[in-house]
Amino acid sequence: MAAPLLELERLSVVYEPAILAVEDVSFSIWKGEIVALLGANGAGKTSLLRAISNLLRAKRGRLSKGHIIYDGQRVERVPTHRLVETGLVQVLEGRHCFLFLTVEENLLTGALGRRSSRGDAKDDLGRVYEVFPSLKAKAKQPAGLLSGGQQQMLAIGRALMARPNLLLLDEPSMGLAPLLAAEIFETLAKLNRDDGLTILLAEQNAASALHYASRAFVLENGRLASGGPTADLLARDDILSAYLGLV
Ligand code: ATP
Repeated sequence: MAAPLLELERLSVVYEPAILAVEDVSFSIWKGEIVALLGANGAGKTSLLRAISNLLRAKRGRLSKGHIIYDGQRVERVPTHRLVETGLVQVLEGRHCFLFLTVEENLLTGALGRRSSRGDAKDDLGRVYEVFPSLKAKAKQPAGLLSGGQQQMLAIGRALMARPNLLLLDEPSMGLAPLLAAEIFETLAKLNRDDGLTILLAEQNAASALHYASRAFVLENGRLASGGPTADLLARDDILSAYLGLV
């Protein structure tokens, strides 16, 4: 079997002064997978994703234990921008678009962190507009005029400009009407299918995430409560009712 693209080995995350947000979490992701990270509000999903991208310090958090291996290398001390250069890219919760820049300018910021092929940003823009036609129609408008769903598309489009191998997404469907959320999930599935993009997705919307992911892990109070192929999880009423509110 090929080596995993991402391996988490016994990760724990603490926030100052002594809040344990993630405890002893291990799992691996292989190239080409869509994996869902599920759990209630406060279960530790954001903390785990931030740990992977080395983004905890901004929140006064840190990895207190464990190893992160990405593409065969230990990366827990690698700065975020270097991780982006190697294709490990995250779409943060809350979208974080530059509201006074145009849609196109926002997208171009996503290409800034790339080490090579900067000149090809125009081609990449074309690909993003193919994936999200509604962004093309608004290319010259300020991002602040976009709807919530379009801002989420923009945040994903900007991440695509960095040419990710592994895309981490934190609650991409949050605050979106069901139809828009479905459009986002469909697009992610298409990127996975057509471009082989590997995806780790944190979601409270368990039903949708389980529909699109091939495997899922459930966090409860910072610990891994369950995990496995989505078909197996969907067949377990105890898990669906205890952790996912689906029965
Ligand atoms: P949400 O869906 O609300 O984002 P989550 O599953 O992503 O939830 P986290 O945001 O990772 O969960 O939070 C996990 C725990 O860590 C919670 O108890 C939360 O209160 C705590 N926590 C998160 N950020 C901080 C911080 N900057 N300082 C202190 N505690 C924090």
